[in-house]
Amino acid sequence: MALEVRPERCVVAVDGPSGSGKSTVSRRLAIAVGGVYLDTGAMYRAVTWAVLQAEADLADPDAIAKIALETELSIGTDPVAPHFAANGTNVDEPIRGPEVTAAVSAVAAVPAARRHLVLLQQAIIAAHPRIVVEGRDIASVVAPDADLKVYLTASAAARAARRSAEDATDVAATQADLARRDELDSSRATDPLRQAPDAIEVDTTGMGIDEVVQHLLTLLNSKVSK
Ligand code: C5P
Repeated sequence: MALEVRPERCVVAVDGPSGSGKSTVSRRLAIAVGGVYLDTGAMYRAVTWAVLQAEADLADPDAIAKIALETELSIGTDPVAPHFAANGTNVDEPIRGPEVTAAVSAVAAVPAARRHLVLLQQAIIAAHPRIVVEGRDIASVVAPDADLKVYLTASAAARAARRSAEDATDVAATQADLARRDELDSSRATDPLRQAPDAIEVDTTGMGIDEVVQHLLTLLNSKVSK
């Protein structure tokens, strides 16, 4: 199925916890609508990589904010191959590594770092007429005017099973790590992970990728053809 109506602007916000299928689904949806893709989690991860490179104290919000503001990010938006660089170094691999994953929620909890990245995200959205944006606060903070807002969920067991298959890690350890990050991301004071009141919840437990993408295209068609 393709988009029946091709409006000038089409912004899709995809939020949800880790392992809910956001990245795969968002990339596939961006390709289906002929748009670009913005992985805001990768932006927080790239700043976290720079924080770790600088050996900054993860408990020092001022140091983290300074690094966030000073790091030169190159943000790929091609849904087929979204490459990221920080200060001229390609960080596609290290930002998915265990060190960055363990530290990213602490960095993402620093309000000044978030403000900076949210402004960058909004500039990228403004520059692209058709875009799928995934993260935790897209519908509520980054793009409250998005044409479609979805909140992807899945059972804790399904999320852990997907993540551990992707990363070749132990399921129980992965489930514990996801629970730890969910708790940190949902309980932080600034822009916590939360379903926006006008977002449509899609529980992807037991659904295949194709099925989820088709479902979102149906939702998008019904929104943009109104
Ligand atoms: O989506 P991903 O798991 O790569 O995100 C990594 C981390 O970045 C999340 O656990 C969260 O702490 C942070 N994040 C965020 N806001 C977003 C996207 C990601 O706080 N919009």
